[in-house]
Amino acid sequence: MPETSFFSDLEALEAAARQLEVPQDQREAWTEQVLQQAFHFLQNIDDFPGYFPGDPDLSFDLEKAPLPMQQILAEYDKQVIRKGISAATGRHMGYIPGGGLYASALADFMVDITNEYGGIYFGSPGAVQMEHKLLDWMKEVFGFPPSSVGNLPSGGSVANLIALTAARDKYAIKNERITQSVIYLSAHVHHCIQKALRIIGLEDVQIREIPLDESFKLRTDALRDAITKDKQAGLNPFLVIASAGTTDTGAIDPLEEIGMIARSEGLWYHIDAAYGGFFILVDKLKAKFQGIEMADSLVIDPHKSMFLPYGTAGVLVKDREAMFHSHHYTAQYMQDALHPDLPVNPADVSPELTKHFRAFRMWLPMLLHGLEPFKACLEEKTELIRYFRQGLIERGFEVGPDPDLSVSFFWYPAKQTDPDIYNEALQQAIYQDGEVFLSSSRVDGRYVTRIALLSFRTHKADIDRALAMIDRIQTDLAGRDLQ
Ligand SMILES: *Cc1c(COP(=O)(O)O)cnc(C)c1O
Repeated sequence: MPETSFFSDLEALEAAARQLEVPQDQREAWTEQVLQQAFHFLQNIDDFPGYFPGDPDLSFDLEKAPLPMQQILAEYDKQVIRKGISAATGRHMGYIPGGGLYASALADFMVDITNEYGGIYFGSPGAVQMEHKLLDWMKEVFGFPPSSVGNLPSGGSVANLIALTAARDKYAIKNERITQSVIYLSAHVHHCIQKALRIIGLEDVQIREIPLDESFKLRTDALRDAITKDKQAGLNPFLVIASAGTTDTGAIDPLEEIGMIARSEGLWYHIDAAYGGFFILVDKLKAKFQGIEMADSLVIDPHKSMFLPYGTAGVLVKDREAMFHSHHYTAQYMQDALHPDLPVNPADVSPELTKHFRAFRMWLPMLLHGLEPFKACLEEKTELIRYFRQGLIERGFEVGPDPDLSVSFFWYPAKQTDPDIYNEALQQAIYQDGEVFLSSSRVDGRYVTRIALLSFRTHKADIDRALAMIDRIQTDLAGRDLQ
């Protein structure tokens, strides 16, 4: 093949490739279309139901591409926004609601445009320093020493995975030691903990589910007994896991007492505060978190209690060596990026090398708003849950124990029907109605509906709408035969 045709190919390829670099007038037009749809969504968000039942029907037909922006956005509106839980609304009160601060969306836009490489200090020192400054702030908030290391991974599940891996390696739980080693946790620990243990090769470890008291908190007398018994049997207790805000009932375990036991027994102390952690910022709730500073590792989710969009969690670990042992690995081609005097690379304390640079979506809203509105928003949720429970009690519902934070549950003590059948019918009707999204659970074998308040958009009017929905449903159920 003559060389000239090789170069003419290159020109043709460049011309086609350059379509990916969008000219300024096109950028403006696309951005305007996206902004119009986003603004329309936000301006009408109060009219959105909390839940849209039904399945989507997206088409991904590359034969038809390129398509106009308008058409793609219309499909997004119909098949994505209008299906399932409307997580951005204040009427998502199921599972653990998320956030989606406007400032975070702008931060993500900026980050994606400049495409900062957040994994290695050498690559983007500013991005990595920003992550460290946020982690330093979290260390201060939770009473961790400055020498701790941390990371902003994608979610609480990965954050727990990172911390538990460090615990495993600190205590060298491998080979034949695995089946002799013991982990203590409550039945209400988040299921991602069990999942993480399996992923990191600890499926065959012995797990002791410690009984709970009447407020669903881990019973420390039972914990102490279990450890003593296991030590007497020649086993190797090495890890205790507490929750600061369980997913089911929002309970905070007795963190300080568990910390004392962990310390005197020589166990790694892990606290999962994915949901509850940032409630510590509320002055009158601070005392409930006493002892959180004793943890060896801690998980907190800014995409829950700091109202960020999904995809931002935090993990802090005191033992640097354990963290590096698990997550630091060198490669020849990384030689310029590894220098002992440089700040810790996020890639050396996480399974991720390349990662989404998440720090700016937390940094920007915190600096634009200051901390006060975040605190007020968290405190508001704890008042709203009391208001909701009051409304339920007035309607004859039974409610769970006084919540520590903003999660609770309720059921109707139906007389004519089996309560489980009644409450399951109530739950199905809640999904069908859709105005407010509430999810279900089983607590002590009983079918219950859960309320979890954490959206920054949930205010008193949304609780009133939830109560009105429940009235509507109960009237309807009264006329139905549920047997
Ligand atoms: C939500 C939650 C998790 C899991 O976090 P993801 O961000 O969903 O991965 C873990 N623990 C607790 C207590 C949670 O509430």
